[in-house]
Amino acid sequence: MALLVHGGHVLNPSYTALEQADILIEADRIRAVGQTLPFAPDTHRLDATGYLVLPGLVNAHTHAHNNLFKGLGDNWTLEDLLNHGPALNGNRTPEDHYLSAAIGAVEMLKNGCTAAYDLFMAAPAPTSEGIEAVVRAYTDVGLRVVIAPAMADLVFYQTVPGLLDLLPSDLRRTVNGLVAAPTAGVLQIAAEAVRRWQGTASGRISVAVAPTIPGQCSDAFFSGCVRLARDYGVGLHTHLAESKVQAIASQHRWGKTLVGHLADLGALDSRFVGAHGVWLTDDDIRQLADAGAAVAHNPASNLKLGCGIAPVREMVEQGLTVGLGTDGAMSSDNLNLFEAMRFAALVGKVRFPHEPARWLGAQTAWDLATRGSARVLGMADAVGAVAPGYKADLVLLRADSVFLRPLNHPLNALVYAETGADVDTVLVDGRIVLEHGTVLTVNETHLRAQAQAAADRLRTQNQAAWTLAEQLAPYLATACRAAVATPYPVQRYAAP
Ligand SMILES: [Zn+2]
Repeated sequence: MALLVHGGHVLNPSYTALEQADILIEADRIRAVGQTLPFAPDTHRLDATGYLVLPGLVNAHTHAHNNLFKGLGDNWTLEDLLNHGPALNGNRTPEDHYLSAAIGAVEMLKNGCTAAYDLFMAAPAPTSEGIEAVVRAYTDVGLRVVIAPAMADLVFYQTVPGLLDLLPSDLRRTVNGLVAAPTAGVLQIAAEAVRRWQGTASGRISVAVAPTIPGQCSDAFFSGCVRLARDYGVGLHTHLAESKVQAIASQHRWGKTLVGHLADLGALDSRFVGAHGVWLTDDDIRQLADAGAAVAHNPASNLKLGCGIAPVREMVEQGLTVGLGTDGAMSSDNLNLFEAMRFAALVGKVRFPHEPARWLGAQTAWDLATRGSARVLGMADAVGAVAPGYKADLVLLRADSVFLRPLNHPLNALVYAETGADVDTVLVDGRIVLEHGTVLTVNETHLRAQAQAAADRLRTQNQAAWTLAEQLAPYLATACRAAVATPYPVQRYAAP
């Protein structure tokens, strides 16, 4: 059945103005965009008068498991967050995974995001039941997603340079007793996930492989992930040089940068996505660009965890594909791509205080959140634009928004002023999933109540793990401070 979205305004191809245009949708794709489109008499109609019709924004990096604990941490470094991993992620039932994924998917929809790359995680490792629950959550809500179960086969504490030597004997015994997931076992679960779920929900579910952080992976495991991604032709997504501690730890362990190490493992190709890339050197950026790889930029997360500001200007200049993400709700904390665009543009300026020609402007921020992220998800010709042949993933934004009026320059207003509060109606695959602010696919009130109950229960249930994390925290901070005192060829805070 065809659908005509009529009477709305779209950004013109150069993003300089709005123009009135109808959009004809057949099945899940846009057939035509224009002013007087021929359509069959039985075509359904959706009146978009008074709305801007935008491509659904695309979240290049998020974490379903984080949503239950949104807003919990503050003044944590990335390493503090990882230290609390068992306290945050332990004891989860498949139902908890469902609720955490579903409530995040609803949040994204309500902010105009129609597709995401989700590195969902579980402690100690994802299970088939947990993955099934996350797939079901996204299928129910109706978002398009690449689900990449995040995995590791080394215990975090054993990968921080110097940490074990600092620990008193009782804590060292406890930490040494922690056992990571078995390498072959997690690879098996990843392979099963691809075989079982790739292309399900009418193609809205894709699956990718996510060795979560190279430092927490044995070379055998990371190589196994590379093979898996290649054999099945799916994406490979990892956290790449997110913190200086990670960059230094790579020098300790492999005597080279993380990118140099991953190149040795044959990981860098057009399927590869590195999240963050804050601590990449110029050589790293060139190597990633030459390989056709991509980076998912998460400026709000990088600020909140104090990781620094990623060299996105240099990435763009090298022709590296960059998409925009929110990261998970434990580091960002909302999943709002309008906010992410604004952050990307703003932090892109402070790196070059006296060189506005090198600042990231509204157009770059918009491109990152649409076409850039689409490429990160491996969907370059399918999402991120309102154009014939693309998937009918559309957002109707109220044009009389307090953020957009008076309207002087539509693109600047969308990036710097709009908050997502004016998202009214959202279509994914040509199907209306959010209408006048109400999610049509799941019971949001019920979902919120269940998610609150799950979060309350898990906070109590994981109290012992929380206590252990608090005991370890001061030693971890000392080890990290010592590590980052090591000179490194790049500095990723504001320019002096
Ligand atoms: Zn992340």
